[in-house]
Amino acid sequence: MLRLEGVRVSYGAICAVQGLDLHIGTGELVALLGPNGAGKTSTIGAISGLIPASGRVVLEGTDISRLPTEARMAKGIAVSPEGRRIFVNLTVAENLRLGAAMRRDPKGVRADMDRYLALFPVLAERIDQLAGTLSGGEQQMLAIARAMMSRPRLLVLDEPSLGLAPMIVARIFDFIGQLKAEGLTVLVVEQNAAQAMRHADRVYILGTGQISFAGPPADLAGSDLMALYLGS
Ligand code: ATP
Repeated sequence: MLRLEGVRVSYGAICAVQGLDLHIGTGELVALLGPNGAGKTSTIGAISGLIPASGRVVLEGTDISRLPTEARMAKGIAVSPEGRRIFVNLTVAENLRLGAAMRRDPKGVRADMDRYLALFPVLAERIDQLAGTLSGGEQQMLAIARAMMSRPRLLVLDEPSLGLAPMIVARIFDFIGQLKAEGLTVLVVEQNAAQAMRHADRVYILGTGQISFAGPPADLAGSDLMALYLGS
């Protein structure tokens, strides 16, 4: 589905991602783990096109590295960004509708909206509330639901557990697992290794701009890398 080949991201003299190779098969849930500053958000920026990068980003055989973000979204990539970044001055309903702005099937949009509101009843109760007044966990649920409203083929989640209580994190990962079970392809970028590995088919560990491990979660459990990079 997605392949990164020799992706590099630099900010002036700082090289945040140094020639990264990564692939995600159709229907796979891949976790990209790594500590603060490892280059995870920069990698997502290279995928979405929001951060200038060199190297190749290939989606289903097509090189999309020169396409602007909107064109990549139109091809089926949706990103739920770190720190939520929902539209705080819009309501829950307006945020969800914006997620579907590129769709031309109003019936399908309404059906999806009903579906995500049923999955996250707390959002249904707050449908006309400004998103900025939601709790952190609720904002995270809204960010994921909004990303899903575009009916993506690849969902990219940047640190969905950030700043949330363990119970909420577990619920959010249950939901991510459910999306995977329905056949969605997912890349989840996380510092919370334990949760991210729960549903992951494969794991990559990023340590200062380079991949230091790639393989199934079972190969990682108990290894030195877990302690070295992920503190567990
Ligand atoms: P975190 O989990 O803390 O968000 P991360 O793994 O997502 O970390 P990045 O945000 O990709 O890491 O950052 C990688 C490196 O690039 C860091 O050293 C960071 O300081 C640097 N960096 C990121 N954005 C910029 C920027 N706009 N200008 C300069 N340096 C940056």
